[in-house]
Amino acid sequence: MSYDPNNVFAQILRGQAPCIKVFEDQMTLVFMDIMPQAEGHLLVIPKEPASQIFELSDNAAAACMLTARKAAIAVRAALNPPGMILAQANGSAAGQTVPHFHIHVIPRHSGEFLAPHAARREDTDKLKELAKRIIAAWPELE
Ligand code: 5GP
Repeated sequence: MSYDPNNVFAQILRGQAPCIKVFEDQMTLVFMDIMPQAEGHLLVIPKEPASQIFELSDNAAAACMLTARKAAIAVRAALNPPGMILAQANGSAAGQTVPHFHIHVIPRHSGEFLAPHAARREDTDKLKELAKRIIAAWPELE
């Protein structure tokens, strides 16, 4: 699938669209999902332009998984959810709505339904407050 350089995550990477940043390194960026399915929902993206897992380089795939693991550790330390989903959709048939590869990190609580996908925009101050707590818990792993 050809890469659309105007997708919103590409704009975020170029600094042309805002995001509430949680973490960044040479190859990856982590930010708050603006329409979270649960409190603390993060998105992990590669800086490399890849729409789906099929186009992602081995290096970017490895970097994304390492960062996603750190994100899961930070969310668990900050918010203490009893469960966590890491999810990744490829293609609209799979529910992908933004054509830049990303891994969702979504805290889960028993008996609590996930909010509908990409449906309700969360209050920015609330997302910033959650980001602050997750940043403070970010692990110093190598
Ligand atoms: P997908 O549907 O592709 O698996 O996931 C895309 C995710 O990006 C959704 O969870 C949606 O809420 C989120 N999203 C869509 N547009 C924006 C945006 O402009 N900023 C942020 N931070 N998240 C977005």
